[in-house]
Amino acid sequence: MTSPNTELEDRLRCTVSPDHLRQHLEVFSALVRNSGSESELAAARYIVDTVRSYGLKPEILELDSLISWPLAGNLTILDENRREVEQVHVRTRSFGAQTPFGGIEASLVHIPFVQSKPRDMIFSHGSAGGDYSGLDVAGKVVISEDGGPDGIRRAQERGAIGHLHIWPSDEDVVHEMIASSVWGTPTPESAKRLPTIPVLGVKHADGKRIARMLMSGPVQARIESNVKTTWMRVPLVTATVPGAGSPDFLLVGAHIDSWYEGITDNATGDAVLIEMARVLVAHSPGLRCGVRFAWWPGHSTGRYSGSTWYADTQFRELRHHALGYLNIDSPGVRESEVWDCRYNTGEVEQITAGVVRELSGQEPAIRRPLRAADQSFLGVGLPSLGAYRMLPDGHPNRKAVGGCGGAYWWHSPQDTLDKADTAILADDARVYLTLVARMCTPEAIPYNFVPTAQDFIDHLQLLQDAAGHHLDLSSTMRCAEVFKAAASNVRRASTRDTGLLNDVLKRVARIVNPALFTIDGPYEMDPALQLPVLPGLAPMRELTNLDPSANEFHFLLTMLRRQRNRVEDALLNACVLIDELGRERTTVSPTGVARRRGVSLRTSVRGA
Ligand SMILES: [Zn+2]
Repeated sequence: MTSPNTELEDRLRCTVSPDHLRQHLEVFSALVRNSGSESELAAARYIVDTVRSYGLKPEILELDSLISWPLAGNLTILDENRREVEQVHVRTRSFGAQTPFGGIEASLVHIPFVQSKPRDMIFSHGSAGGDYSGLDVAGKVVISEDGGPDGIRRAQERGAIGHLHIWPSDEDVVHEMIASSVWGTPTPESAKRLPTIPVLGVKHADGKRIARMLMSGPVQARIESNVKTTWMRVPLVTATVPGAGSPDFLLVGAHIDSWYEGITDNATGDAVLIEMARVLVAHSPGLRCGVRFAWWPGHSTGRYSGSTWYADTQFRELRHHALGYLNIDSPGVRESEVWDCRYNTGEVEQITAGVVRELSGQEPAIRRPLRAADQSFLGVGLPSLGAYRMLPDGHPNRKAVGGCGGAYWWHSPQDTLDKADTAILADDARVYLTLVARMCTPEAIPYNFVPTAQDFIDHLQLLQDAAGHHLDLSSTMRCAEVFKAAASNVRRASTRDTGLLNDVLKRVARIVNPALFTIDGPYEMDPALQLPVLPGLAPMRELTNLDPSANEFHFLLTMLRRQRNRVEDALLNACVLIDELGRERTTVSPTGVARRRGVSLRTSVRGA
């Protein structure tokens, strides 16, 4: 592994200016940046003008995005004569359905839900659902902590006509959220998954009180949900600091739209990108590869439509030249301390861990990407990097939310200027600049695929344990072991030709990441539903619950065999690419891969 360019890193960190960051935050604090709004466009223009003044050539790309702004919502508890008993404070969910004039009236049904860990962030790899056993929700309104797109889908599939999401933690805030599981702009297929029922959010205390009322008898309610769901023209700003020695670049993104003025989610992220651009322009001769900054629209009310559009429209360039994707969301939160390194893929985890360890003195928790946070590039095959500074566990402001360092003001009007700390934000910027330097200065791209291979091995084992004898993964496991052995030999085999090495490393990432983190592969976007690593094989866990003579069992087994082929092929193709490094320089091509497959590895015949 190349040692870091500590002199350059020191200079990058020293150039960060808290004053510049504060100035950007002040500008953003006057802009309520709903995607598609004039204020979002004003923010985009501010970014363009500022980074242009640094000597860069920024662009505003425009796209049409299906955006859903939640408008007024009402929840009224009624008595047996349909008279109003109580108004409950609620917020409409983005992409929920519009109710007819006057709302809809229905009985409420409480669906119990057990959260795995009470202080979990709302996005997790867990797939626990509400407990519907013995409860008929057809024609009724579900009230449950089982919320988010997964929970809403579960209610809708069972015939519920509305969903009230009880917030899991006890803050006196009704958070804004999005109900759709469609990642980015819908396609004819994914559009079928747009929610068809109205959805409202309620505070924990209100939700629990209604649940207690339901224990003593039926409760009728009127719910009203108003949304503006329509096509809007939204701005996506990009700016590239060119590298001195390669057309390759690291993609660094932050969402530009926000709920309200959204200072710590995500004006701080937008400001950090602007400041990183300023610092890097001054030191670009030291960078071998470039840095492409992108400020994504359509994050909160378009379900990551900006980053998705970018992946769709810049696919080939990203595929050939992007070293990875660093997402920056919610840095600079007041009193944040503890580094949570989520959204890291295995081949770059040592970069993130090393930087955070050296600069903070903490031993960071490294976690794999979740299906959130503009992770629109795993299908393209980009390694993902992420480092998020959180409030410590037990901090009074720490709640079960999805950003803002875990603070209660997430997705609410309370996310104001006083919630940011520019000294912390400047420190966060230093961490991100050091990450950039470690990715973009070495002659050889600093990927290490051994942890990636270990991810395959660990998760295949978990799946095999869960599925018992129904599907044999032993040959897949052998492929993963061979990939691990090949990955540990990469550097030794390849020092002669750095160009070939870098080419192979990028191609390996393009092959293994879609297999490890997507169901639908490079050209489609998986739903915004939380699934474990190796999501294509995740339904193996259901096999043991099905009757082996039932259609459902055989249908699922057929699908899983195909997913197994997909994973094995990815592992074998990655090995063949690595194999090229130990040979004479040849053009690595799909035909080369096909020709050499039989040479590199032998797979055994299997039963299932
Ligand atoms: Zn955010």
